[in-house]
Amino acid sequence: MPADNPDATPASPRGLAALLGPAEVRALAEEFGVRPTKQLGQNFVHDANTVRRIVSVAGVDRGDVVLEVGPGLGSLTLALLDVVDRVVAVEIDPKLAARLPETVAQRAPELAARLDVVPMDAMRVRPDDLPAAPTALVANLPYNVAVPVLLHLFSELPSLRTALVMVQAEVADRLAAAPGSKVYGVPSVKARFFGDVRRAGAVGRAVFWPVPQVESGLVRVDRYVDPPWPTDAAHRVAVFRVVDAAFAQRRKTLRAALGSWAGSPAEAERRLVAAGIDPSMRGETLDAAAYVRLAAVE
Ligand code: SAM
Repeated sequence: MPADNPDATPASPRGLAALLGPAEVRALAEEFGVRPTKQLGQNFVHDANTVRRIVSVAGVDRGDVVLEVGPGLGSLTLALLDVVDRVVAVEIDPKLAARLPETVAQRAPELAARLDVVPMDAMRVRPDDLPAAPTALVANLPYNVAVPVLLHLFSELPSLRTALVMVQAEVADRLAAAPGSKVYGVPSVKARFFGDVRRAGAVGRAVFWPVPQVESGLVRVDRYVDPPWPTDAAHRVAVFRVVDAAFAQRRKTLRAALGSWAGSPAEAERRLVAAGIDPSMRGETLDAAAYVRLAAVE
């Protein structure tokens, strides 16, 4: 679906891309002299069904401009190109970034013109770095920076309407957790500052090379069409500051945990009461709307 039209039917694959299987992934890595590093979270998918499923769950349509972070050897890139008309791939590893157009030209020659590769760190991406404004993020994110990358892109790219990302299963649970859940935390609140968040499936270890030590999960974020609060940078920074403070000391009441944020526990209490929040509650029980109210108290 074009990312802003959740009722549209996702486009079906054109069948023009030869997707990568285990033998192809190993052969490409060998040919490119790639030794996957943990530091860059390099676990490459070698299963065509998995990448097709990710593209299908993302629900992207021809008209979407898809941003892929970390295309690696191109497994997901090929499946995306088979469905959408434009893919912008941001890859930090210069060797992988340089070889991707070649892989696409060989395995999907009719689709090669639809791809732009931007060789840079996704954590530094600004709209001007990209050749087109992306409407959807679809990515198998590097696990060590998955949450900061996701939040950075929603902060910096207002054109981004939706995201379907594969992350470590535990991180997927944290992102999608509701208030009161054991795993509800900073990522859960911050992601909800931008939109609705939900788990969108599980992925086992066997589809990766090298095999990771953790299970993976899919998470979907749909940016609010009518945001319930202002989402400009100054407001976002103010809300994120109070969220960080509230979760820095999980076992404390909000009155105590927010003492240094407010200047004193008494001032924290005043602001909490003004925002309609019981000061004896803990940070993990508040939803994003409550944090937004708290940040707005004068
Ligand atoms: N998309 C490929 C796949 O599914 O097989 C590779 C996914 S692998 C988990 C993560 C990829 O992200 C690697 O290609 C890695 O080099 C790249 N990467 C790591 N950190 C990055 C960053 N900060 N910005 C952009 N790419 C990054």
